[in-house]
Amino acid sequence: MGALGAAVAWSGPALAPLLPPLAAALRVPLRMPLDGAVALTFDDGPHPQGTPAVLEILRAHDAVATFFVVGEQVRRTGGLLDEVLAAGHAVAVHGDRHRTLLRLTPGAVRADLDRAEDVLGGRALALHRAPYGIYTLAALGDVRRRGWQPLLWSRWGHDWRARATPAGVAGEVTRRLSPGDVLLLHDADDYSARDSWRTTVAALPRVLERIAEAGLRPAPGQALSRCSAGSTAARTSGARPPSR
Ligand SMILES: [Zn+2]
Repeated sequence: MGALGAAVAWSGPALAPLLPPLAAALRVPLRMPLDGAVALTFDDGPHPQGTPAVLEILRAHDAVATFFVVGEQVRRTGGLLDEVLAAGHAVAVHGDRHRTLLRLTPGAVRADLDRAEDVLGGRALALHRAPYGIYTLAALGDVRRRGWQPLLWSRWGHDWRARATPAGVAGEVTRRLSPGDVLLLHDADDYSARDSWRTTVAALPRVLERIAEAGLRPAPGQALSRCSAGSTAARTSGARPPSR
């Protein structure tokens, strides 16, 4: 983790309490209108070990999830993104590189999202989640002009931390679940504590059990994007406004 990552890690806890009011002010949803379901989401992959391990557990539990992927990891992991899709899961946009948008000019944000669109090639839902969950007004405008729905989360398990435990992650991310909750987990450790994906994988069976115990099920990714039109294929179909 470099100087930027360290700065973000340090500021993370201070930003966290601000997230819900900030998101409300920016009209970025933390939840989705889901009937009898929650959204199970994994950020930061694909990861050569973490993603297949998560896929295996999801398969064993007949569960579906949405993966907010990073373009540079899609390039590094070859056909792994298509394996995710072939297993019936959905993918969405987390960016091309994993940088806090606060530190990028609007032009740099645009270039990053352009590259993410290129590497995903229409395979992603029209859903976007900013790295670290932090949007700027300019970035939010860019995301929305592409026809993408920004989506944060209502439950997290702090699974990216070195001191996270499977029981702690499972307990926190499933606390007081209700329909429409969006659960944040990570299937990769490239932007977090080394091997943190192992904690997530170890927590996942319990997470799925607790979702079921709450009388809920993980919603297919397509249910998350039903309120937004199109997909990342919009770029190649010429739907992007020329003004950017
Ligand atoms: Zn992330």
